[in-house]
Amino acid sequence: MDSAKRIADKKDWIKGASGDWEVIIGLEVHAQVLSKAKLFSGASAEFGGEPNDHVSTVDAAMPGMLPVINRFCVEQAVRTGLGLKAQINNYSVFDRKNYFYPDLPQGYQISQYKQPVVGEGQVLIDLDDGKTVTVGIERLHLEQDAGKSLHDQHPNMSFVDLNRSGCALMEIVSRPDMRSADEAKAYVTKLRQIMRYLGTCDGNMEQGSMRADVNVSVRRPGGEFGTRCEIKNVNSIRFMGQAIEYEARRQIGILEDGGAIDQETRLFDARKGETRSMRSKEEAHDYRYFPDPDLLPLELEQGWVDSIKQTLPELPDEKRARFVSDYGLSAYDATVLVSERASADFFENVAKGRDGKLAANWVINELFGRLNKEGKSVETSPVSAAQIGGIVDLISAGTISGKIAKDLFEIIWTEGGNPAEVVEKRGLKQVTDTGAIEKAVDEIIASNPDKVEAVKAKPNMLGWFVGQVMKTTGGKANPQAVNDILKAKLGL
Ligand code: ADP
Ligand code: MG
Repeated sequence: MDSAKRIADKKDWIKGASGDWEVIIGLEVHAQVLSKAKLFSGASAEFGGEPNDHVSTVDAAMPGMLPVINRFCVEQAVRTGLGLKAQINNYSVFDRKNYFYPDLPQGYQISQYKQPVVGEGQVLIDLDDGKTVTVGIERLHLEQDAGKSLHDQHPNMSFVDLNRSGCALMEIVSRPDMRSADEAKAYVTKLRQIMRYLGTCDGNMEQGSMRADVNVSVRRPGGEFGTRCEIKNVNSIRFMGQAIEYEARRQIGILEDGGAIDQETRLFDARKGETRSMRSKEEAHDYRYFPDPDLLPLELEQGWVDSIKQTLPELPDEKRARFVSDYGLSAYDATVLVSERASADFFENVAKGRDGKLAANWVINELFGRLNKEGKSVETSPVSAAQIGGIVDLISAGTISGKIAKDLFEIIWTEGGNPAEVVEKRGLKQVTDTGAIEKAVDEIIASNPDKVEAVKAKPNMLGWFVGQVMKTTGGKANPQAVNDILKAKLGL
């Protein structure tokens, strides 16, 4: 189906005083290219540093300086385009977008306008209810970032920091295909995930490596698109959700009062949780775009594009499908595991040659659960994939019970070591010797005649007996054997 025609699920409709409404969202995401140097100069593109530490004469727009295109940044844009299953344009043009701002020393931004390097593509987003939605990508173009004005350093002066001036940005423009704040959040999350897999953007929103202009309009379900407002520079996924919900309600309020929406640029005030007007369409800039005479059109050889394609990693959607088919995982578990490349790799190192479901269970529930609690990641995990694999092996072989495995995990987490050796040394092996279990069962039956009477009437009291046997055997008795022996002796 043409995704622009998609109507939101009823659960996402917004109730107004006069009936239901649907919210329509399209995003322009600015993603900083992961590159050592800037788009048109050799200055460092690294985050941080003292103000104006990373500024070349090109970035400061000294007279007579000429931009030289950074081949690596172009490659990163092409890689991203390929990852978005998009059309790569072998011919594209850099334009000057003219405007004045103190942190834009050139007086124009070099961007791409009519002929971007990447054309139409798509991103699949996975929603909590298991549904997948396709979001169309309209284009991806390369452009320079601007510097930053600092207004809080001096009582009556503003300063300018040009460290970011000239850093390479990819502007990724979506179609208006999202129908709720959750869909928009899922889209940005997926886009960031894909770029992290590709290594083209670190997706670090706190450092401004990724930020979004959020276009929002409302309509009657299935009706004509309404006039949109654009919320500029939203730098967190949570804020984006809040901004969309506030903005949709604001527009519905105006329309239901008989008013009309002015197409305007707005800002989200995170402290107040509301959007407010920045400038209206009438005040919109006329950027007087024209091709930058200092730069030749960008011509890509198809062979070069093909060679980049050869180096693309397996992307999250494909990896997830493979985890489901090769390891028998649920879609949910597979989604959790592929969320980052490092976690997916970790899982595969555990699962190779082992029971995939058991491996997934251990990686997700035990390891990730523990890492989260300690604020660590798989990269800084004190327990390695080989160690988790060792624990899984011991469970699979029946050497230890699931309960002992958790204790063993704790030991490995704090003390390290080879799981099999630790089990050996500490005597954690499961007792499968039925003689020993029988002895424990006999003792418990003998000393609890009242409970023995009770369990005959209430068979689910068996759990109490199992618990007692486990206690006396230090949790090491094979649970299946305990159950069988108890049932036989109690006559259940
Ligand atoms: P402009 O060039 O003025 O920024 P575009 O047509 O390129 O306009 O659209 C910019 C963004 O606005 C795109 O991400 C697009 O999906 C989104 N958009 C367009 N129309 C609407 C609408 N009616 N409601 C919400 N978003 C929209
Ligand atoms: Mg725009």
